[in-house]
Amino acid sequence: MNEAPGVGRFAPSTTGHAHPGTLLAALLCWLDARSRGARILLRLEDLDPDRCRPEFAASIRDDLEWLGVDWDEVILQSDQRSDHEAALDQLAEAGTLYPCRCSRKDLRDHAERAPDGGHRYPGTCRGRSLPEDGWRKSSEPLRMWLPDIELSLRDESGLDLSQNPSAAFGDPVVRRRDGAIAYHLATVVDDASASVTRVVRGRDLATTTATQILIQQQLGLPTPNYRHHFLLMEQRGNKLAKLHGAVDTTLLRAAMSAPSLVGLLAQAATLRPTNTPTTPTEILQDFTWQRVTPNDQILTWTPPHLTLHRDR
Ligand code: GLU
Repeated sequence: MNEAPGVGRFAPSTTGHAHPGTLLAALLCWLDARSRGARILLRLEDLDPDRCRPEFAASIRDDLEWLGVDWDEVILQSDQRSDHEAALDQLAEAGTLYPCRCSRKDLRDHAERAPDGGHRYPGTCRGRSLPEDGWRKSSEPLRMWLPDIELSLRDESGLDLSQNPSAAFGDPVVRRRDGAIAYHLATVVDDASASVTRVVRGRDLATTTATQILIQQQLGLPTPNYRHHFLLMEQRGNKLAKLHGAVDTTLLRAAMSAPSLVGLLAQAATLRPTNTPTTPTEILQDFTWQRVTPNDQILTWTPPHLTLHRDR
């Protein structure tokens, strides 16, 4: 069967500088799209006014260019506001949008734990109505009523994503109290507006996929193909945590050339047997997902050395 090449996207939040995990995710997304002749978009997710900053967006773009990956289009999520509002209009029309007055403390005190370590929203405010003159006039967070449905699904890598999002997480906030559009809604709407057919992202986001698919279904939007990949981890005490803010990209870039980092990421992904400097374009020549490890990999950063712990 001749599958259309499709559209992929890499969608980092602009809440901080890139770290090796960001660069790995970008590289895998780029390899996925380029190896099938798909278009690939960079979508800068910049909606959280408390945490996102234009200088992080600029530095992420610069780090990605340094790494050697390119994009057919760059989209700022904050430019998509009218699409987000149209989706909220649609939910309001369908009667599934409602204002929530529960505080974080209410949730902490009364709610069960959700699979991401947060709290499941128990639906306390379901049935409360929006202001007479529409959701825009509400100064409360708005949630979306999710149907109670068990989704049975696996991603393209075979990862089991089956979940009843309503039972696991409860109704998601779709517009925050400060007016910002929340992650799930924005991501779903933007993927559909850009005709995204392939979502390749880290396994830390796997538990969000069922909620996003339910939102697509409620909005009558298509569901892209999902694939979740391994993560880069670091040892913290005797626990493993996602490698994150620990690595300053300015120091990293001063310590390593882009080909050296790409070589290390390619070795971590098991796309190369040894840590040999290379480029995204070279790895593309023989890239297939079958060759990419499913296992999380441990890195340590002791400036100026980034080291892969190759015992897995
Ligand atoms: N912006 C999200 C993040 O950086 C990812 C969004 C997505 O890939 O769906 O964690």
